[in-house]
Amino acid sequence: KIRVRYAPSPTGHLHIGNARTAIFNYLFARAHKGTFVIRIEDTDTKRNVEGGEKSQLENLKWLGVDWDEGPDVGGDYGPYRQSERKEIYQKYIQELLDKGLAYESYTTEEELTKMREDQEARGVMPHYEYEFAGMSEEEKAQKIQAAKDAGLTPVVRIHVPVGKTYEWDDIVKGKVSIAADTLGGDWVIQKRDGMPTYNFAVVVDDHLMEISHVLRGDDHVANTPKQIMIYDALGWEAPKFGHMTLIINTETGKKLSKRDESVLQFIEQYRELGYLPEAMFNFITLLGWSPVGEEELFTRKQFIKIFDETRLSKSPAKFDQKKLEWVNNQYVKNADVSEITDLALENLIVAKHVQENPDTDTIQWVRHLVELYMPQMSFTQQIVELSDVFFNQPDVLTDDEQKELEDDDARKAIEDLRGKLADLKRFTATQIMAAIQGVRADTGVKGRKLYMPARIATTRTMHGPAIAEAIELFGRDQALKNIDKTLE
Ligand code: GLU
Repeated sequence: KIRVRYAPSPTGHLHIGNARTAIFNYLFARAHKGTFVIRIEDTDTKRNVEGGEKSQLENLKWLGVDWDEGPDVGGDYGPYRQSERKEIYQKYIQELLDKGLAYESYTTEEELTKMREDQEARGVMPHYEYEFAGMSEEEKAQKIQAAKDAGLTPVVRIHVPVGKTYEWDDIVKGKVSIAADTLGGDWVIQKRDGMPTYNFAVVVDDHLMEISHVLRGDDHVANTPKQIMIYDALGWEAPKFGHMTLIINTETGKKLSKRDESVLQFIEQYRELGYLPEAMFNFITLLGWSPVGEEELFTRKQFIKIFDETRLSKSPAKFDQKKLEWVNNQYVKNADVSEITDLALENLIVAKHVQENPDTDTIQWVRHLVELYMPQMSFTQQIVELSDVFFNQPDVLTDDEQKELEDDDARKAIEDLRGKLADLKRFTATQIMAAIQGVRADTGVKGRKLYMPARIATTRTMHGPAIAEAIELFGRDQALKNIDKTLE
């Protein structure tokens, strides 16, 4: 039975890297007709942020990911929030204490800091030194009593087996082996506040939730031997592990980190810019996974059909913003005009180009605008800048624009165009184009000498979208006003 999970910590919004972990687990589950579980890892109470869980789940849903069990949908293996499973962890901590595989440790934070400093001075890797080393049972008992009398609360540490090597056959990396001696000594499984540590809780949960495969980021490789140690201590069988390659920022060549401000990393941010969820899903799935062949555009359903975990890449995934924009453009181009219009409207409202609760004329106008720009847009927020010409009319022309209007032909053409535009029966792009052709026939001005002055006079800028469509979007009144201003 295939059961996989995505286990976010509610420490903020959904990050690209976490979204990728979620998507791969989701695809793995769906491709193998297994079960996909969401578990919230919120034992590190200091790092939890208000609304973090809600926002992460909401953004996953937006991406098109759904799950079979989780804090919001329930399931037979709940509760699905670690903070609600305290008693369960307690029970297994006690079991390890009873078996003598774990012990209460009274070393204080100050002592630990001092230990680390001494070790550093001696040039050895910082590690926890067994606080009862070489003591008789009696001495040990005395030391514990003294600590209790001093009112110290203990943490619980696990005895790390000396000389042991942990090995597993990683789905992505192949054989991995890590010596127990490199793990920094007996590590904490229960904190002073009674909460289990991540490496302990995750094992209890994965076991009780019958997780068969653990697919997670490369940054967890060092945790895996610790987790296997807990499986061993509790007499359980470990799941299969797979550690996905890290993501690097192509701009900097460095590992993508939340502190890197050169690139947007949270799904929320892309959402606000009007990226499409299907495109994001597509792009993220190709971060560290590739299908057979050259094709790069797939729907979620297609991915489910072709997903194969043996094609998870061993080399770092490249996060390339340009590629992301290209993928998005492919989706925007082919999207439903209404969908893009809705998104663009929101962007225009945020930019204050359009008022809230726009009337039908405005919506119709924006729809037109969208049709005009859709082929070139990567994300809908670009509509704000692309359409700037319609909202921010520059009062004066630039020198370059002025120069285009200097000769007599330009003036002649513009005057003729004014008359023709004023007379048009229907003010549509096709009719407008016909009018421009008419100017050419009547005045003999043609090519750039015709189009550039016509564009500048009607739109008051030499840049912008296709001329006839732009004039239509301005509307007759504004276009004529612009011409008059130019001819002044
Ligand atoms: N809560 C962990 C994280 O956010 C999950 C690690 C795991 O999948 O085991 O990275």
